[in-house]
Amino acid sequence: MSASPGIGMTSDRTRGRVVDALRKSGISDERVLAAMREIPRHLFVEPGIASRAYEDTPLPIGHGQTISSPTIVALMTQLLLEKGPVAKVLEVGTGCGYQAAVLAKLVREVYTLERIAPLMDKARRNLRDLRIYHVRFKHADGHRGYPEGGPYDGILCAATASHVPEALKEQLAVGGRLVIPVGTGEQWLHVIERTSAGFTDTKRDAVRFVPLLPGIV
Ligand code: SAH
Repeated sequence: MSASPGIGMTSDRTRGRVVDALRKSGISDERVLAAMREIPRHLFVEPGIASRAYEDTPLPIGHGQTISSPTIVALMTQLLLEKGPVAKVLEVGTGCGYQAAVLAKLVREVYTLERIAPLMDKARRNLRDLRIYHVRFKHADGHRGYPEGGPYDGILCAATASHVPEALKEQLAVGGRLVIPVGTGEQWLHVIERTSAGFTDTKRDAVRFVPLLPGIV
């Protein structure tokens, strides 16, 4: 790995502070906190804004997209792991790969879909640099999910849909959970769970994500 810009940012103390802030904002799953502490967020953004990588804010990653804030990544991961064991996860919206890297610390098998090819390539390089090899990248439209890899114990969608894509629900295992922001004006995080009888849908936190767009580029 190449030398990291700004040694201060990589320090344990800086990342310890981020974890303290996450705790204060309600993240209590110690596994999630440990993974967030471990993944160096500054390596996922452009060097010019690396000094802001540990602020609790989304940041630009090119192509009009953003890396989600640490709180949102931690919250979605916590919701995904809230019940039962999670061995296989599908992420929709790879972006720079930060969320995928956090998931990879916690889950044995991770699939991630991205519609913008150069972003996916960058994410692949980012994870390779961190020696994370058990994430499978697919250049695909997340509306259709990735049935070849399913069923999934968890699906995490990092872009807002006007409605929940049926394909994602269908690719959940029984007992599996889909965490997805929904809405055109106001956006809310929903947790959809597949039960033996069908699906339950719980509205959780108000959020702000980039839109889930059709097609690949
Ligand atoms: N998880 C990312 C967040 C990226 S923002 C991270 O940690 O950085 C959301 C991403 O979803 C963007 O990269 C955007 O290009 C992607 N996206 C939007 N619509 C999509 C679709 N239909 N299929 C796959 N990816 C999509």
